[in-house]
Amino acid sequence: TEAEVLLDLKDVVAGYGNLTALHGVSLNVKQGEVVALLGANGAGKSTTLRTISGLIKPSAGSLRWKGASIVGNAPEKILRLGVSHCPEERHVWPEMTVAENVELGGYLLKSKTELQRRKDIAFHRFPRLKERAGQLAGTLSGGEQQMLAIARALMSEPTLLVLDEPSLGLSPKMAFEVFDVVREINSHGVSILLVEQNVHNALSVASRAYVLETGRVIAEKSSESLLNDPDLLSAYLGG
Ligand code: ATP
Repeated sequence: TEAEVLLDLKDVVAGYGNLTALHGVSLNVKQGEVVALLGANGAGKSTTLRTISGLIKPSAGSLRWKGASIVGNAPEKILRLGVSHCPEERHVWPEMTVAENVELGGYLLKSKTELQRRKDIAFHRFPRLKERAGQLAGTLSGGEQQMLAIARALMSEPTLLVLDEPSLGLSPKMAFEVFDVVREINSHGVSILLVEQNVHNALSVASRAYVLETGRVIAEKSSESLLNDPDLLSAYLGG
């Protein structure tokens, strides 16, 4: 039995003003998958994620969630549908406490009890954040800030987590911890679209990957076959 296609992009064109960053990107993510989006700097990885989460409106192509078009939907609507975006460089609010940052991720929730329940889950999953709940987020280490950004993104209990460069700037040890968390989240049934510079880390958690080059998908392969394709890895990913 084939898993349900959750997210489906076909020939998506998008960019910034006069700059076209995506020249027809097609990709999909199925229920339960971890899919990696790889490519050099400037290939359009972050732009793809921003388009998915509604921060950028595509000028052409189709963008579907569970079969229905989400082109032109506001970010809040897309979040409500079950797609949560954990942006690059973390973007935690440094002058707010860890607990306040976590709560922000649940801003769509009306019920205080439900907000509390999800916060309890978050602090149970990330004990280091619980210990630092009252501390200003700006005083956390890089790895802790990344964990906080992920905890915040999970507060909406997404079906799909869109994760932009979670290991950016982290030590190998902290990056390893972050990828352990990614695996754990996926083991609870959350599908993940992962942008990552570190190809080996990405492919250790993803089952398949797309390779982007200057706004175009130039390859789609299982992680295993990509790892066995040194030419592709060195040509496009500097591996
Ligand atoms: P990186 O790993 O360096 O973030 P990326 O693959 O995520 O690379 P994007 O950030 O999506 O690439 O950038 C794709 C193109 O869009 C680049 O040419 C970049 O200069 C441009 N771009 C990205 N963000 C903006 C922006 N806010 N305004 C204008 N141009 C942008």
